[in-house]
Amino acid sequence: MKYERVSDPLALLHARAAFNNIYYIKYKQHKKTRNEPILGGRPVDMFLVFDLINHYGGIEKVYNSRSFGIISKFIRLSPTATSAGHSLNRIYRFYLSPIERDLLEALSQVYLNFKNLKFSRTRVSKAENSTLTEVEAAVVEARLPVYDMEDTEILQPYFYKYHKDHTDLYLDVRNHLIRLWYHNVASRLEWNDVKRGIPVVFRDLASKVFEFLEIEGFINFGVLPLRRNVISVPRSSLRKKKVIVVGAGISGLVASRHLQTFGFEVLLLEGASKIGGRVESSCEIFGAPVDLGTMLITGLEQNPMAVLCKQLNIPLQVLRVTCPLFDVNGNLVSSSEDEAAEDLFNEVLERSGKEKSKSTRPDKSLQASVEEILADKNISLSTRGITTRLLSWHIANLEYGCAAPLNRVSWKHWNQDDPFEFEGEHVLVKSGFSAIVEGIFITFLNH
Ligand SMILES: Cc1cc2nc3c(=O)[nH]c(=O)nc-3n(C[C@H](O)[C@H](O)[C@H](O)COP(=O)(O)OP(=O)(O)OC[C@H]3O[C@@H](n4cnc5c(N)ncnc54)[C@H](O)[C@@H]3O)c2cc1C
Repeated sequence: MKYERVSDPLALLHARAAFNNIYYIKYKQHKKTRNEPILGGRPVDMFLVFDLINHYGGIEKVYNSRSFGIISKFIRLSPTATSAGHSLNRIYRFYLSPIERDLLEALSQVYLNFKNLKFSRTRVSKAENSTLTEVEAAVVEARLPVYDMEDTEILQPYFYKYHKDHTDLYLDVRNHLIRLWYHNVASRLEWNDVKRGIPVVFRDLASKVFEFLEIEGFINFGVLPLRRNVISVPRSSLRKKKVIVVGAGISGLVASRHLQTFGFEVLLLEGASKIGGRVESSCEIFGAPVDLGTMLITGLEQNPMAVLCKQLNIPLQVLRVTCPLFDVNGNLVSSSEDEAAEDLFNEVLERSGKEKSKSTRPDKSLQASVEEILADKNISLSTRGITTRLLSWHIANLEYGCAAPLNRVSWKHWNQDDPFEFEGEHVLVKSGFSAIVEGIFITFLNH
């Protein structure tokens, strides 16, 4: 019988449940005291051992081709585990060979049921041109590692044991739930709908993972309708509490809505005469929305703002990456001059960054640093000429990004938010950014 593994988390959960049915019952009958042998300090994930060895052609083939290395890696064996290949071979033959036929039959049947489901491949990062599976794309979008547990997960007392053993079981449950949510972020993922698809034996774990993902805002965040009456995940400790949120900027609005979702009674206080804080669109000047504050979503990938816009059905306009510059005489700057000035400006910023990382000197302004480096290159911003005019444009553009003149921007800390930047297309909210805050506010009021 040809063993055709389907590497989809839900298929793997069902295959694991079928495996457990045979494996644990068999060894209970034989009154074996230890069901999972220990290797490299952790119990061996017997399902994965069976699944992977058969995926790679069966025990004889893996043994003869000495391919245990790849299996050790996939089952997360510590690299210090001595003679892992020899041990895995022994474990397989002792524990799994006697029930191999039953296991092959049961697991093949499960995979056959899943084989006809098409798991699409989605391009997730246009910048890197990468191709990920649909599940991988969804988990990346949720800002979680696909094949590992993140610290916030490991620190949950209930999940810690899955970090130590059975990490892959946890990840299959978590990745499956995240994939379901990203199928349609505009509607709430309801536990009662989800649980039916999950094998009974893993439902308890799945309900805890579901609750964790929801509370942490990895799924079911934004401006969704409140959940249906039937709540199967217990939240009695959270319900009926009152919370005051100060400030109806976008953060306060989203937080208020998220808290409402969990049954909190929210009192939202705002000091100004309008909601939105630093978000304000005005139609008064041009008769069409102009943003006086926040205007752009800078990077759609992994950005919760993209989810909010989908939920509120707000159209976005992708910005062109090209930005033609015109000189004081109205003529278009030639591409060679334009590129040369941009390269020079980037080189200056790079050098400034390198000097900063080595320096123990006190802080100064970014303007001072830029001028010092330019002086070193015999360039003064006070001279006339196309190069300085173009450099001045780049400086003004950076001042716009920093919302302050560079002589008031810290050399040491001006780009401290860089690690949190989003990737992907930059977009303009066609109807003005206020449409987003108003959408959240209306959902909040209509509770
Ligand atoms: C000109 C400008 C352009 C920008 N452009 C962009 C952009 O294109 N893209 C982007 O992503 N970001 C942009 N930003 C940044 C973005 O606006 C903010 O990061 C974001 O709006 C912050 O939202 P917030 O809810 O955290 O804070 P805020 O919007 O500042 O909201 C805080 C709210 O709390 C209220 N408040 C404060 N103290 C009290 C109190 N004691 N009692 C009651 N109410 C109180 C305030 O009145 C305000 O309504 C821009 C900012 C500015 C100023």
